Amino acid sequence: MIKKIDHIGIAVSNLEEALSFYEEALGLKVKGIEEVPEQKVKVGFLDIGETQFELLESMAPDGPVGKFIEKRGEGLHHIAILVDNIENTLHILKEKQVNLIDEVPRKGASGSKMAFIHPKSAHGVLLELYEK
Ligand code: ZN
Repeated sequence: MIKKIDHIGIAVSNLEEALSFYEEALGLKVKGIEEVPEQKVKVGFLDIGETQFELLESMAPDGPVGKFIEKRGEGLHHIAILVDNIENTLHILKEKQVNLIDEVPRKGASGSKMAFIHPKSAHGVLLELYEK
């Protein structure tokens, strides 16, 4: 059911500034920038080995990333796990009484599907299930 870590999500105040740090200081390549209105974020992806960094800038203070930054500042936001079939995975987790933020997948970047597992179940880490 679980394939690998697909990406690591990092909440940033300013996407352009953050991307230039990762490009210039670490030599990573920006794969693309895209807006995800459903999540009220602007997202930039950088390749890092077999995985990616997903930098998230909030487009609205009341969005999930806007609230996160207001409460905790910039930093590690979530770890995304690639799955084959997100509906099936959610069904199995629900049966195991895992605390889910999303019981039904949402629309993510690049036409993907995603759903969050609550940090209460995942020992303090926000886990994203991600299907390409
Ligand atoms: Zn993500």
